[in-house]
Amino acid sequence: MSNITVKTRFAPSPSGALHAGNLRTALFSWLLARHKGGKFVLRIEDSDSARLDSAAIEGIQADLRWLGLDWDEGPGEATDPVHWRQSARTEIYAQAAETLLQQGDAYLCFCSAERLAALRAQQQAAGKPPRYDGCCSGLATSEAKQRQQGGEPAVVRLRMPDRGALGFKDLVRGSQSVAAAALGDPIIQRADGSAAFLFANALDDAKMGITHVLRGEDHLSNTPRQQILLARLGYEPPHYGHVSLVVGADGAPLSKRSGAVGIASLREAGYRPEAIVNYLARLGNPVADEQLLDLNGLAEHFDPSRLSRSPARFDFAQLDHWQSEAMSALPQSTLLSYLHFPGVPVDQRGALADLVQPNLSRADEIEAWAVRLFDPALIPIADEKPLQKAGATFFEQVDGVLNDSGDADWSVLRPLLESTTGQRGGAMMKPLRLALTGLSHGPALGEVIRVMPATIRQARLQRALAIAAAGDSA
Ligand code: GLU
Repeated sequence: MSNITVKTRFAPSPSGALHAGNLRTALFSWLLARHKGGKFVLRIEDSDSARLDSAAIEGIQADLRWLGLDWDEGPGEATDPVHWRQSARTEIYAQAAETLLQQGDAYLCFCSAERLAALRAQQQAAGKPPRYDGCCSGLATSEAKQRQQGGEPAVVRLRMPDRGALGFKDLVRGSQSVAAAALGDPIIQRADGSAAFLFANALDDAKMGITHVLRGEDHLSNTPRQQILLARLGYEPPHYGHVSLVVGADGAPLSKRSGAVGIASLREAGYRPEAIVNYLARLGNPVADEQLLDLNGLAEHFDPSRLSRSPARFDFAQLDHWQSEAMSALPQSTLLSYLHFPGVPVDQRGALADLVQPNLSRADEIEAWAVRLFDPALIPIADEKPLQKAGATFFEQVDGVLNDSGDADWSVLRPLLESTTGQRGGAMMKPLRLALTGLSHGPALGEVIRVMPATIRQARLQRALAIAAAGDSA
């Protein structure tokens, strides 16, 4: 591994939006490339036009960019799609299929869908795995060509060895071996001339110089076939590693239908890209450093042989942990980019951000805090009982102290408020916090008092006083 330039890739089929499962595979591939100082390729596998969703091609790129997973080769304004999009590469596949046919490593197969269905049913009844029985593999090439030219639909199948064991060393799962006899001859070209997934995928990896493939374990059984295919075409196959699937809380594999863990919906719900990558990079992958890491930091630790082989369960509680880490680490400038409320004076914006940052679970919540602390029109009091319990005198005294010394340090202000009102700890702070913010929890009270404009503070205390007075006289 050491002397070659490592090149990995993410090769999604654009049949829908990215979800946490396929994104995790992309992330692992990116981390491997960066760990090795290599290159990362994005390739769009749209050879199966029936499953094509063109919006998904844009969506996949937007999601990867948002998460910081940049690619060295792939879609780009000045890049011809022939370098990254399978639907633009049909010529390349057709030529390779022809080469295999000429070499005798592939053959035309005329078996009808009915015959294949009957064969499968027979095999199933006998408790055997489905496998093409090689019916057309013995046809003479000239006869096969003639039938095809006569208009009979034909697929192209790769001739696989029928004895011995096919083995390879999986980057994640270690030594793998499968009996050649268990694998039928796979279709590499459909009757309409289009390339089958297995064929286009392997050929692209070879032609693009991919050295390491990390992909979902659902592709494990394709690997021996693809290795044979590439060897027949004279290519060195890449190293393959098969990553366990991500399952939902119910244990079922995530799919494009698992909207809740679609990357776009996580973004809309306010999750930060750093939180998502830190969570997914650690899902089924031990990372000793428990701090929030950037992508390069995560790449430094990455080793595919340490990835877990069992399914990884998506856990929102863990994602939320990384979200709060990401929120605490957010630079002030990013936080302020979410602040559109004009009522916060420019020189107070930093103080507001510092004040509320520990209380944020999403960056855009800073806007709501700005309104809560700086909007004179906001009427923040929801529950009147605690205000009435504190009494009108309490608010009168608090107002007096704050008007005289509201800019004093909290360590001075708090004992002053306590001694003036005769209320200590929560009995002093709770009604005061409620009167000022309308909430029973929130940022440090001393800081709230310092940041909130005096006119707003006074108006809110007067309002609390009026409520308490109405309670007193009731
Ligand atoms: N297009 C395939 C998929 O989305 C890629 C498989 C691979 O990574 O080799 O599952």
